[in-house]
Amino acid sequence: MGKIQCLDPHVADLIAAGEVVERPASVVKELVENAIDAGATAVTVEIRRGGMSYIRVTDDGSGIAPEDAETAFLRHATSKIRGQDDLAAIGTLGFRGEALAAIAAVSRVELRTRTADNDLGVGLLLDGGVVRTRQEVGCPVGTTLIVRDLFYNTPARLKFVKRDVTEGAAAFAAVQHAALSHPEVAFKMLREERQDLMTPGDGSLQSAVYAVLGREMALGFLPCKGSGEGLQVEGFVSRPSCCRGTRGYQHFFVNGRYVKSRTMTAALEEAYQNQKMVGRFPGCVLHITSNLNAVDVNFHPTKTEVKFSNEKRLFQAVFSSVNAALNGEQGHPQVQL
Ligand code: ADP
Ligand code: MG
Repeated sequence: MGKIQCLDPHVADLIAAGEVVERPASVVKELVENAIDAGATAVTVEIRRGGMSYIRVTDDGSGIAPEDAETAFLRHATSKIRGQDDLAAIGTLGFRGEALAAIAAVSRVELRTRTADNDLGVGLLLDGGVVRTRQEVGCPVGTTLIVRDLFYNTPARLKFVKRDVTEGAAAFAAVQHAALSHPEVAFKMLREERQDLMTPGDGSLQSAVYAVLGREMALGFLPCKGSGEGLQVEGFVSRPSCCRGTRGYQHFFVNGRYVKSRTMTAALEEAYQNQKMVGRFPGCVLHITSNLNAVDVNFHPTKTEVKFSNEKRLFQAVFSSVNAALNGEQGHPQVQL
């Protein structure tokens, strides 16, 4: 008899969950992405004990139809893509159909959701991915997901979780990124019962920057706008005199998705070459918009890295836009507050 066997589905689910759900911040990121994809205009995130005991994300988006509620928690279940061709041009933040399944596999989840076509919503309780109860519930249109006791059934993962403040800070950063990536959505975050963040959701990147990063940071920014072949660049970059001791203030977004990109970091820093002190790094909030099919987002399990069909063009577009901003070629170098 051979030695190779297919894993039992529960074990396979736990392994898959490990890729997507590394820590509370990953849960926050995925749930907030779902809220944005559902067309929410307002999103509230609440965490307790750094997100380990409690994470709640409430949105006023489309809601989930009663007949879809259980399906949403199955692996590879998604409403966002249908076939192979859709992978070439992904316009939503999610598309893998893995997040809810992964989160549910390693926690206790409560869902309350209602669509505009239904007078009553659905409430589900799941433990370790297994549906325990289903009820009709009265609730506003939109979705609330509550995640309790993260990793209660995966002790190995629990060991790698850091202190509550550290996990809470990472979750906070995930909400900051979401708020900077979608200024048209009003975000609110409650951390250990304190309100930590509130953005107006008025569609202006400048007001989102002000609300998320604070007045001092906002005043240290220059507006930046430019384009390259098939790419638009827009946002804010540090005045050379306002560079900081870390790269922690560099925020890049591609088609509304927060990403890490060596090419963009290099292009940004190259533009400052003779303008800043050694050991200091520019901050930025830069949105890159491109044709959906010029970027591959199906590249990394948590989608924080993307691949451009032409990284040289990306470099050039970012470099020239930042360069122009630093050299005052854009008319309005002063950020108006
Ligand atoms: P994906 O986002 O990759 O499609 P998820 O596991 O995150 O996969 O979600 C599965 C499906 O559940 C989504 O495709 C969507 O139809 C639905 N869904 C999840 N969260 C929400 C939400 N907040 N509002 C409306 N629908 C949602
Ligand atoms: Mg998703």
